[in-house]
Amino acid sequence: MSEMEVLDCVIVGGGPGGLTAGLYAARARMSVVILERGAPGGLLATTDHVANYPGFPEGITGLELAELMRRQAESFGAEVTYGEATALEPGREYHTVRTEGREYRAKTVILATGTTHRPLGVPGEERLRGKGVSYCATCDGAFFRDREVAVVGGGDSAVQEAMFLTRFARKVTVVHRRDKLRATPIIQERAFETSGLEFRWNAVVTEVLGEEKVEGVRLWDTKTGENAGVLPVDGVFVYIGLLPNTEFARGAVEMDAAGYLVAGPDMATSVPGIYAVGDVRVTSLRQVATAVGDGAMAAVAAYEHLG
Ligand code: NAP
Repeated sequence: MSEMEVLDCVIVGGGPGGLTAGLYAARARMSVVILERGAPGGLLATTDHVANYPGFPEGITGLELAELMRRQAESFGAEVTYGEATALEPGREYHTVRTEGREYRAKTVILATGTTHRPLGVPGEERLRGKGVSYCATCDGAFFRDREVAVVGGGDSAVQEAMFLTRFARKVTVVHRRDKLRATPIIQERAFETSGLEFRWNAVVTEVLGEEKVEGVRLWDTKTGENAGVLPVDGVFVYIGLLPNTEFARGAVEMDAAGYLVAGPDMATSVPGIYAVGDVRVTSLRQVATAVGDGAMAAVAAYEHLG
């Protein structure tokens, strides 16, 4: 495509929502480009085991599922290309998505940029990132064979990834700020049965310790309001929730206070012709299954918008 060409649709983000939107848009014979800043799949691709996506009763790795979705979208003509959106400029005739050194013009835009794991924001975290501090157990777990690690958080991500880490680490301690997990009951049940997995309740990490690499975490007891000592670990995996990837769209479309995109039932944002799907939109459930449904819905709405 030439730089001046106006596409029918640009999809920003190549996770499950974006890839499904691409599949549906391509099948509707729209000219469509999917911009992805990393490897297709988004957070899905960093998930070791997906057990709740229908059609895969034995489960499937996130990477494999993402790859299948990409292949399917491309087989119908969607073009997946590398690019990180830096700006979104709504227009009357077409909308513009800018990346570093390039711009894409399209009559419709589907925002599927998902979320990133939220950092702890404590001393030592940034300095020791990649030196024992990680946000991706699937990527880094194998470096911790026979070591001891902490996983911070009590949601699905923390508990699921903590179980995964027991394959490598000698001991995995989930550090959670309350005494009840937020994770889905079936994930909790499995976790409580997993050997090598321990829980440190009512605790938060106040500092990541170590010079060249992580040597421990300093804990604070949320019940007593007192210092709870140091947990000696070689690694810290942080899963304390998500942050929407929407900086590039700030001011262009409506967002809530946390930066999630506001979209109606057909995924339309506050700007006609711009849609938001998957984890990045204001929603009560963030799953592969919901992102996929959003993607299909948005592509059909975008097709109708073209008239
Ligand atoms: P989440 O559900 O938002 O859970 C975040 C966890 O971190 C909570 O337990 C929270 O504690 C804790 N937390 C938040 N801020 C903290 C802080 N400053 N210090 C210490 N702890 C803090 O995030 P998530 O687990 O990443 O999941 C995100 C979404 O993806 C969810 O909708 C989840 O269901 C979905 N997901 C689903 C699956 C699956 O279905 N298999 C797998 C992964 C993710 P509180 O509990 O006290 O609030």
